[in-house]
Amino acid sequence: MVLPDYHVHSLFSPDSKMSPEEAVRAAIALGVTELCFTEHMDLGHHMEMYDKIPNFDGMEKTISMLRKKYPDIHIGKGVEVGYISDTVEQTAEVLAKQNFDYVLLSTHCVDGLDCGVPESKRGQDKITAYKRYLETVYMSVTDERLTAQYDCVSHIGYIAKGLHYEDNTFPYELFPELFDKILCEIIKRGKGIEVNTSGIDRGGHVLPHPSIIRRYRELGGRMITIGSDAHKSQNVGAYIKDAVAVIVEAGFEEITLFHNRVPRMVRITKED
Ligand SMILES: [Zn+2]
Ligand SMILES: [Zn+2]
Repeated sequence: MVLPDYHVHSLFSPDSKMSPEEAVRAAIALGVTELCFTEHMDLGHHMEMYDKIPNFDGMEKTISMLRKKYPDIHIGKGVEVGYISDTVEQTAEVLAKQNFDYVLLSTHCVDGLDCGVPESKRGQDKITAYKRYLETVYMSVTDERLTAQYDCVSHIGYIAKGLHYEDNTFPYELFPELFDKILCEIIKRGKGIEVNTSGIDRGGHVLPHPSIIRRYRELGGRMITIGSDAHKSQNVGAYIKDAVAVIVEAGFEEITLFHNRVPRMVRITKED
C-alpha cells in the first residue's frame, strides 16, 4: 500500500537541521513509500530567517543524488509557501521559475505575526483569533495571483498549534459558514487539502480537524494528501497511518500523489 509523507523539512529550511538523507532513511524504516521535501519559503515573514528563498539548486542536486541511492522510495521536491499578501507577486514569480513535484500553500502569519508566536494572541479570545485566522486562509485561497502556483492547502487550523488557549481544538462547528466558503473555493479551483499530523501532539488533532475533512468530502472535495511536517528525523512518517484512517473514515477511497505537479489518485485502505 502507498504510504506517503508529503510534508517534510530538512536543513534547506531555516528551522530544521535534519539532513535530507536522514529523513529518507527514517522514512524507509517506517515503510513510507513516498517522501516529499517541502521547504519553507515565507517571503515577508516578520522573523528574518523565514524571509528568504530556499536553496532550490542545492535541493535539486541533493534529491537527484538521493533518488539514485534509494531507488525504492519516491523522493519529491516541494516547497511550503507561506501566504503573505504583500509579497504574493514576488512569491509567485519565484515559484514560476522552479520545477516542483508539489507545492503547499500555508497561512502562518495573520496580520503580520506568525500564529505560532505568543505575541500573536494580542489579548484576543479564541473565537476572535480563530475567525481572523480563517479569514486570512480565505484570503489566501481566493488570491488569484497565486492560484496557478500551488497544489494543496496545508494544515488548515494551524493557529491551534500556537496553544494560546486551554482548549485549542478547531472543529468545523466553530465556523461552519466560513469553513464551507474556504472549502468550496479550494474545490472550485481544482486544489486539494493536506491532512497534517503535527497537530496531534500540538493542538489535539490532525489539521484540519476530522470534522472539516468530512465536510470537505461532502462538498465534493477529492484531492487530499498527508504530511507529518517533520523537522526532525523522529517525526518523519509520524501518525501517517492514523491520518490514512481519518481520511478513510471521512469517506475517501483515494489519496492524491503529485509528481511534477500532476495529481494522481491512488486507492487507500485502512489497516486494522
Ligand atoms: Zn506550515
Ligand atoms: Zn511545514
